[in-house]
Amino acid sequence: MVLALKAAAFALTGSVALLSDAAESVVNVGTALATWWALRVAARPPDDRHPWGHHKAEVVAAVGVGVLIVLSALLILREAWEAARAPLPLVAPWDGIAVNAAAGAVNGLWCLVLFRAARAARSPALRADARHLLADVASSAGVTAGVALAAVLGRGWIDPALAALVALNILWSGWRVLAESLAGLMDEAVPEDLRARLEAAIAEAGAGAVQAHDLRTRHAGAAAFMEFHLVVPGDWTVARAHALCDRIEAALRAEAPELRVTIHVEPEHKAKAPEDAIVI
Ligand code: ZN
Ligand code: ZN
Repeated sequence: MVLALKAAAFALTGSVALLSDAAESVVNVGTALATWWALRVAARPPDDRHPWGHHKAEVVAAVGVGVLIVLSALLILREAWEAARAPLPLVAPWDGIAVNAAAGAVNGLWCLVLFRAARAARSPALRADARHLLADVASSAGVTAGVALAAVLGRGWIDPALAALVALNILWSGWRVLAESLAGLMDEAVPEDLRARLEAAIAEAGAGAVQAHDLRTRHAGAAAFMEFHLVVPGDWTVARAHALCDRIEAALRAEAPELRVTIHVEPEHKAKAPEDAIVI
């Protein structure tokens, strides 16, 4: 609906700034579809072909969205350039402005809903979506004000200049989405503060063991993975070491419910220097 309103605003006025606004809405529709697909795929349980789960579908969608945003920005820049070289007077600007303002209001509300949902679900795809929509709402407000100015002053360059500004803003938000989602593809570790809490949980729940070392974490979408070596006295039975592992895993999951943990058990002589280990 927002897209239809903005397209109508452009058709009414012939303003490239309003066209840039409408192009953003096309991106929004694509983004919404990609996000919807990603959330569905990410929720699937692990299967034979994807034994770690499907969480990275969200990252893939976020990369796709980033590319889409950057492309739309480049298209708008080209339109603005054309309009600046051959400016046409605006037709019925006030009708277009009113229609665009209505579209902006709808978007603003939707944006709030998305940010809430993204925080609740800790979903990178939803967050990318919400952040992009926020940029859209802001630029839409600017464009509407700017086209009003152009309508009053009647200057041919205000409209394409605005479109170019919108495009640069879109380009920036697209870049941020891309940079963030690429980090997700690179198996980035969990944030420092979470890691500190996880280490504390190991030290506390691991009473009886000697130390933990070679701790590695990575995250994929809303899920996180962790593995480490747990050094226990060599004369422990397998059953005893396993029971301790289960206690540690439960403590870690209490800190981070989406965490999948793998523990490799070792006897004392595999212990590392205390500065390279979590001493228990
Ligand atoms: Zn080891
Ligand atoms: Zn087990």
